[in-house]
Amino acid sequence: MAAWSHRRPRASSSSYSTQRKAALLAGLFCLARICVASPLTEHQQQQQQQQQQQQVAFDAHLNQATSAEYSDGVACIGHDFSTCRFASSPSSSSSSSSSSSASSSSLNLHRMCIPSSQSSQWATSVLPAFEALAIRERDLPLDIWKYPYRMHLVYPDNGEPEEEDKECIVFTYPSSDLAEAHLDDLVSNLPVSSVLSWQLLADNEELARRVEEQKRQSLPKEDTSTSEEEQEEGEEEDDVAIAGRKARKSKGRKTKGGRKDKQTKIVDDHFHNGYHALENITAFLSYQASQRPQVIELVDMGLTYENRTIQAVRLGKKHGRHGQPKKEIVITAGSHGREWVTTSTSLYLLSALLEPSSAPLLETFSVLIIPTLNPDGYAYTWTTDRFFRKNRQLVSEHRDWLGRKCYGMDIARSFPTNFKPALPGSCGPTYAGTTPLQSAESQALASYLRNETNEVIAYVDLHSYGQLLLYPWMSCRPSSGDGPDMPDEEDLSELALGAAREGRYAHNKAYRAGRGCQTMYNQDGSSVDFAHEEARIKWSFELELRDEGSYGFTLPPEMIRPTGEESWRMIKYLMRFVQEKEKL
Ligand SMILES: [Zn+2]
Repeated sequence: MAAWSHRRPRASSSSYSTQRKAALLAGLFCLARICVASPLTEHQQQQQQQQQQQQVAFDAHLNQATSAEYSDGVACIGHDFSTCRFASSPSSSSSSSSSSSASSSSLNLHRMCIPSSQSSQWATSVLPAFEALAIRERDLPLDIWKYPYRMHLVYPDNGEPEEEDKECIVFTYPSSDLAEAHLDDLVSNLPVSSVLSWQLLADNEELARRVEEQKRQSLPKEDTSTSEEEQEEGEEEDDVAIAGRKARKSKGRKTKGGRKDKQTKIVDDHFHNGYHALENITAFLSYQASQRPQVIELVDMGLTYENRTIQAVRLGKKHGRHGQPKKEIVITAGSHGREWVTTSTSLYLLSALLEPSSAPLLETFSVLIIPTLNPDGYAYTWTTDRFFRKNRQLVSEHRDWLGRKCYGMDIARSFPTNFKPALPGSCGPTYAGTTPLQSAESQALASYLRNETNEVIAYVDLHSYGQLLLYPWMSCRPSSGDGPDMPDEEDLSELALGAAREGRYAHNKAYRAGRGCQTMYNQDGSSVDFAHEEARIKWSFELELRDEGSYGFTLPPEMIRPTGEESWRMIKYLMRFVQEKEKL
């Protein structure tokens, strides 16, 4: 039974009854499930069963809890939540005692707390669904405060965090009778049984002013001096509400001749509407580099077995304004030829990083993108076999029973960390070689990641499909450092959960976050384990893109852009997270 703690100064607060919230929460659970409805694999079904068992256990725990245990009082929240401390004073709450006094400059701020054990579920399914409903269906500009780290612990007045029992989020919305009515409706869709407390912290104009001030300060500097419309092109593209408004505006933004005006964004390029043959990708990279030489440079990573160049682009200079080396993010795609959407997504990320709003990130980091780590395999999928996975090197003269020689090394299995030698003469789709790094592609990448002068601080390897954001270990039998005490797991998990949640804000697609071996399946010799362990790149991830199996490797072209958009949110989140954690 949830212990509600309401402080609603308004006469209309009766609609926030406990019963209503209880009804609402039950409904939201259904909603969240509908949002992610798709055929479940056996593994997913097991996971769902586990979650249901956890839910039952949690409900039992909650039934034992007293309201005193979870009573929040007026404690403030988190390290930079000064507004909450301010907002929770009784005088501020009583300052607007009548709904008729609400104006557009007044803001409501609520805090909702849930048990920590539920935070992952809330982050990846409940809150995005709630926010999407509010913004898209009710036009209620609900602002769930998103912080660099997942949801925050409550800090009582002595400044020490309470036990990690619960995590709280705050959200704001403009005060108005209509907004109140919408919220009442929406709350009736939340999974109430998970909520520990719900509290109105503030309702006043001073809070609105301070929140606006904080938002302004978080905008890139060059955007704050531009027009209102141009501001929306900047940092605030993160915001679903503004994204919706931008979409509406863009409809009327075309000139009479059908040509878009200067507001056209780089990511709007038609190039991102379809898949492209290797030659066109090379041309695209060369064109971008020629247009913006101050931001992009082409990087030659080496030659493949069939003599193709493994091409990369670096965005942002390698050195900062004062000549200091920057930290670099490396993103690889297309190590498996048939995973076309990974290549397309890496090119979308390239465009997103070229947007003016990304300039602050490129002041801190350089980003090396390798769109087709396996160009031979990619080209082969365009000409001969759409579902070919490996590279195209001759692996064995030995002929199979059909008289065919064996071609192809699985690049993503051929790295030294947790490497598993293949049997000589075997020719399966995951043929890893008899010793590590027998492919030119893995050699090129490994030597780049190993080279400390490259200052690589984060590595993301794009694959498809599955909608997963994975951190080491990919192998279920790592050579060292595995086990429940993997030293970096807390940080990596925190980033992955937050990024997955952030990605879902784009199109409500759920990405599951977790340790590779446990969340997907065993991958020996992966570049991610290698990057993390041997190259000592702590922030190493594998991002499995859309979908969950309906289309698999043949994802329709119309899904390229949405996949790019949600991936960009995740990558941007990763960059900011690393920036803050590493104090860059
Ligand atoms: Zn793959």
